[in-house]
Amino acid sequence: MSVFDEIIQSNREYQKKHKSLEAFPLLPRRKLAVLTCVDMRLQGVLEEALGLKLGDAVFIRTAGNNLNYGEMRSVITAVFKYDIRALLVVGHEDCGMGRCEENQLQEVMLQRGIKEEALAEYDNLEMWLGCFRDERENVRETVKKLSDYSLTPEDLEIQGFFFSITTGELQPVT
Ligand SMILES: [Zn+2]
Repeated sequence: MSVFDEIIQSNREYQKKHKSLEAFPLLPRRKLAVLTCVDMRLQGVLEEALGLKLGDAVFIRTAGNNLNYGEMRSVITAVFKYDIRALLVVGHEDCGMGRCEENQLQEVMLQRGIKEEALAEYDNLEMWLGCFRDERENVRETVKKLSDYSLTPEDLEIQGFFFSITTGELQPVT
């Protein structure tokens, strides 16, 4: 059975207990958005660590909680569409994007059939992928990028944080 078949089977079971979300409010109760990493260790964990329940905040996840322009679009759309007034940028300890090496990633990409000429189109693949060296510094840069962005409203409060996957502590990044 393929993984997709397994997922469909799980979903059939799930549907028996699903309650319609049609009447669920579309706007987050806390007028809050959280930009964080795709790291699996944060999924479900970070919501609880921040005391946020379904309906409290919009979560946006990108690799390394970075923002390129496509990802910026998701944040800006959420801010206006969901009337977001406060945004948390949450980086975390031991982030995979904090230790990605261009050469290593290139090797994996080539092994998985990406053509050399396709890779050659990227002058700085490491930068394009959003690799960084320091998680806290990366949070500062993301906050700055958002604050400086021309479509970010002035009334949006933005604060950076660092989440420890070891202790569960959330520290402000200033
Ligand atoms: Zn990460």
